[in-house]
Amino acid sequence: MKKYDLVVIGGGPAGYVAAIKAAQLGLETACIDGQIGFDNQPALGGTCLNVGCIPSKALLDSSHHYEFMQKEARMHGITGKVTFNLAKMQERKNSVVKNLTKGIEGLLKKNKVTWYKGLGELVSSREVSIKSHSGDIDRVTASSIIIATGSLPSEIPNLKINNKQIFDSSGALDFKEVPETLCIIGAGVIGLELGSVWRRLGSRVTVLESQENFLESADKTIASEAQKIFKKQKLNIVLGSTVAATKIENNKVIVEYQKKEDTLSEEFEKVIVAVGRKPRTDNLNLEKMGINLDSKGFIQINNKNQTSVENVYAIGDCVGGPMLAHKASEEGIVIAERIAGVSDSHFAPKVPWIIYTWPEIAWVGKTEQEINQAGIPAKSGTFPFRASGRSHARGELEGMVKVIANKKTDRIEGVHICGANASELISEAVTAMEFGASSEDVAKIIHGHPTLSESLHEAAMAVSGKAIHF
Ligand code: FAD
Ligand code: NAD
Repeated sequence: MKKYDLVVIGGGPAGYVAAIKAAQLGLETACIDGQIGFDNQPALGGTCLNVGCIPSKALLDSSHHYEFMQKEARMHGITGKVTFNLAKMQERKNSVVKNLTKGIEGLLKKNKVTWYKGLGELVSSREVSIKSHSGDIDRVTASSIIIATGSLPSEIPNLKINNKQIFDSSGALDFKEVPETLCIIGAGVIGLELGSVWRRLGSRVTVLESQENFLESADKTIASEAQKIFKKQKLNIVLGSTVAATKIENNKVIVEYQKKEDTLSEEFEKVIVAVGRKPRTDNLNLEKMGINLDSKGFIQINNKNQTSVENVYAIGDCVGGPMLAHKASEEGIVIAERIAGVSDSHFAPKVPWIIYTWPEIAWVGKTEQEINQAGIPAKSGTFPFRASGRSHARGELEGMVKVIANKKTDRIEGVHICGANASELISEAVTAMEFGASSEDVAKIIHGHPTLSESLHEAAMAVSGKAIHF
């Protein structure tokens, strides 16, 4: 039986990154992954590369270009009839996915990580069995094991995904035709991103959301700004509407939902269910191994990411916290370093959240609601993009930057952005907060002109009431 220092189960952004880092640090490492890609071949990269971050961003970018050409280009003096070919768009998306998943395969090879293609199952705290896609069984032993098996879409009881009329997020990335009418259940991250893709390509999109408040986890100023913008874009978001059932009649879906005391129903060509994700822990033999799960099914870990079995660790979506690729990867690095004995730091970074609509929404740290709840004395500054020279040059004036700082110490507690390129702008805020910066620190840093990043600079100055351009 082959012996490894470390065996990682799962080759998503948590698992493959942990495996590469461990190998770089001198551990003999294997990574077991059972994902099958769009072309029916084993593919590394997990949800993120195969049916998550990457394919969704490829479609978001393509559909954004189309909408820009249709609606904005004229303002720049660019005219002409624009059409799109969905099959080509999907082909491009698939080739982006293929290039990147193949790239991970190359990285594992380069770092001498052995990739086992198949499903891993714990046999003991130091032994894993692997069932290959053709059914063959292999066994390996390891001094340490990391479980990084990720997550799967949550379901609504009694609502069956058939990927013909009712889709999960994976199926919704692969539509062959643009539906005339589309219902998305859940106005969370996936609902807003995929809703934007199909709206831009011509669907009439209705998003049904059970919460009464829009984007409850975002800062309320930003959420309300974004809500106005989505309304203008005709993304129909209906709050306080809980979907309980659907029926299929004449190839159409009748969606039944509860809005206060009323039971309403509406007919759609297609429905996407985007009501969150659940940990994937099936078939790992966890119960027999004495590895505990919490009440929501996430693997229970201590602050060193150890499970109830000392040398078995767990990282990424399967342990809960923000279910984000960058959180999963960072956790992978920290735990690999811990196992290799080069660092004993704990995983506790500032995690940025980004929603890749247009404009984009991004934040890090506490929202105004969280600060008020925690009783932290706070002050804030906002700067609208319509006061930025670069935003005028680009012709993209929507949104704002909001910086919240502690009133006593001036330390930044949160940064919230709704606007063009918020996904890139937020990185500066993450860096500033990781280094414990004050709003004055950011206000005193030179930002290139003319850039969108000047808006963060100005919002930091606005914290003390002294923005220059607003
Ligand atoms: P996963 O990526 O789910 O990887 C787990 C891997 O383990 C999979 O390959 C799975 O097949 C494999 N596996 C499971 N069980 C076994 C087993 N027993 N044996 C062997 N292999 C096994 N996050 C972002 O940060 N940014 C985004 O823009 C973003 N967009 C998203 C868009 C969509 C549509 C979706 C669905 C998700 C998106 N996410 C995004 C979330 C992101 O994909 C996840 O947070 C991330 O993939 C989690 O990484 P992971 O490695 O923990 O799990
Ligand atoms: P989510 O938790 O963001 O949103 C789900 C929404 O569905 C919630 O607002 C919830 O109130 C609503 N809901 C639940 N049951 C409902 C019902 N019966 N009727 C109506 N509404 C209902 O989950 P998601 O959008 O499915 O995304 C899953 C996870 O994937 C996210 O939490 C995120 O971690 C990750 N993700 C991240 C990105 C990104 O980083 N850009 C993109 C996509 C997905």
